[in-house]
Amino acid sequence: MTEVKKEQDQSPHFNGLWWLVLLGLIIWNLTTFWPHNQTEAALTYSGFIDQVVQNHVANVVIQESQIQGEFTDPQALPAEDLTIPDVVATPTATDSGQSTDNAQPILYDSFITVFPESVGDPQLLPLLESHDVIIQAQTASTPWFVVLLSNGFPFLLMLVVLYWMGRQAAQNQKGIFNFGQSKARQYEEHRVEVTFDDVAGADEAKRDLQEVVDFLRHPKKYHELGARIPRGVLLAGPPGTGKTLMARAVAGEAGVPFFSLSASEFVEMFVGVGASRVRDLFQRAKAASPSIVFIDELDAVGRRRGAGLGAVNDEREQTLNQLLVEMDGFDEHQELILMAASNRPDVLDPALLRPGRFDRRIVVNMPDRSGRQGILRIHTRHIPLAEDVDLDLLARTTTGFSGADLANLCNESALIAARNEHEKVSMTDFEEAVDKVLLGGVRPLLLDPNERRIVAFHEAGHALVAWYTPLADPVHKVTIIPRGRALGVTEQVPGEDHYNYSRGYLIARLAVMLGGRTSEELMIGEPTTGAENDLVEATRLARRMVTRWGMGSLDAMAFVNDEEQPFLGYELARGQDFSEETAAHIDHDIQELLHERHTYVRELLKKRRNKLIELADTLLQEETIDQNELKNILGSRPLAEVEQIPLASKPEYANSK
Ligand code: ADP
Ligand code: MG
Ligand code: ZN
Repeated sequence: MTEVKKEQDQSPHFNGLWWLVLLGLIIWNLTTFWPHNQTEAALTYSGFIDQVVQNHVANVVIQESQIQGEFTDPQALPAEDLTIPDVVATPTATDSGQSTDNAQPILYDSFITVFPESVGDPQLLPLLESHDVIIQAQTASTPWFVVLLSNGFPFLLMLVVLYWMGRQAAQNQKGIFNFGQSKARQYEEHRVEVTFDDVAGADEAKRDLQEVVDFLRHPKKYHELGARIPRGVLLAGPPGTGKTLMARAVAGEAGVPFFSLSASEFVEMFVGVGASRVRDLFQRAKAASPSIVFIDELDAVGRRRGAGLGAVNDEREQTLNQLLVEMDGFDEHQELILMAASNRPDVLDPALLRPGRFDRRIVVNMPDRSGRQGILRIHTRHIPLAEDVDLDLLARTTTGFSGADLANLCNESALIAARNEHEKVSMTDFEEAVDKVLLGGVRPLLLDPNERRIVAFHEAGHALVAWYTPLADPVHKVTIIPRGRALGVTEQVPGEDHYNYSRGYLIARLAVMLGGRTSEELMIGEPTTGAENDLVEATRLARRMVTRWGMGSLDAMAFVNDEEQPFLGYELARGQDFSEETAAHIDHDIQELLHERHTYVRELLKKRRNKLIELADTLLQEETIDQNELKNILGSRPLAEVEQIPLASKPEYANSK
């Protein structure tokens, strides 16, 4: 849109002129080829001869093959003499209807016809003379500019269109001819304002990076001691944990130029561009040293070679090779640090990770509780908080949130507070934001009473099982307000982060997952589709317990069949490394596990049937029940009471937390 405007601004007469020429041409065309007036007849040649023979023709003007002339008197002409039969004058029209009978035939006083040049008619001139027709001959009178325009115009038009298309293309791919240059954004020293203070949690990673910062600040100290400085630092960790942020913080702390490029930007339109970009990037960084080169999402180019299935591989491999060459090409005395980030370090090419290249790997983990609290503090720095906001409690309820999620959460709660016209962001705003981030926004969904009842019993089932199963995470909130894809939610909050799960804990979790469906079976009489997700999750957990953690009846063995990365190609080559028999055994184990849990949950719910009904009724009335209300209805959690039925052959593992 803006592009078009600009063009018009640059040459305002361009369009005007062309429109004028076009208009002129159209008018000229119309005036020459349209019958001049209604009374000029377009005659067939034989019709014309007819008229001459009948002495109706007064004069003719012959111009090349065109003959124009005038009649002596106005003539009504028979339709067969006309090339363009007139509707009113045609006999056929008169035949077909009575209404045209009394229509006046058109009287013509001039005519036009075409002389059959290819055949010729040597008798024409004698004939005309013998009937006293005045003959006038004319040379072609088309003006030269009209000829030029009518012949040259299409050509010109084509040129203009080509020119315009060329311009458009050039604008779309600006810099098409310097594609080899790296597009790295260079952050100058003063530009990077991010420091380690802006990164919370990840203390280990920060400590490791501190060394890099120190080297960039005082390279001499290190050179004098003959120390070999890490050349490549790989930040590895799940998405949103602050890898990019941390790399920028290093540059900010060290106060050096920071060349940042996302690896996907290496690979573009042309083959070979990636490699030349890498070369250019390193050239610029070396010229500016001490400096940092940061390649984000390294896995985009750094995947294990010869692994993929696509055709883009060659280009990617060339780029990767160039990267490897460049990494070897600067010596220890060059104060250039290469940093990269990836959330898939496992798929990186081993050559990238060997000593001398990205040999320093820094793992950036998901933030733990205190880390989350720190991140929340950073991102609420500019948000006015109400008195009741408890960041520690928030950190506790946001297990599994990454730094990016938390940043999003803070922003989301500020938005919600603004919508609620609060002056400060309060705890309720935060709670709403957590729900929104976790589950999606509230859905205005009208369920019929029967469906609401099903959802209420489903959620009450989850909550009740969680409440009475000692090792399950405590229930924080139950609601039947639909959110995102869920019709209702039972929120559980682990008191602390878990890094290691006991079998007892997992088994309790399985029970809670099955609680919804089992409650439906008992209270509604049959299961519904509402438990789909629960079943998928439960089956997946059970499978992992059996195949990965040796928690089934098979021996302490792991049967990992890396199901998570089937698209890598590398993994494709590896088959299943256990027998069909074992596979059947695994399936059997999973079934057994789920069946046993199902029985346990059914017994539990039957025994607490009254409580289940009371809970569901309360849910139907209040829609949301928090921990305190749950306690009122269900009593305090029976921590000592062991209600689970352990598998006979399984020893209970000590909770290692
Ligand atoms: P990654 O590169 O690991 O995917 P980013 O560095 O892009 O993640 O993080 C996205 C955003 O999340 C950051 O801009 C920052 O606002 C926030 N964030 C992530 N981790 C942290 C952290 N440890 N401390 C503060 N903010 C963080
Ligand atoms: Mg990133
Ligand atoms: Zn459920």
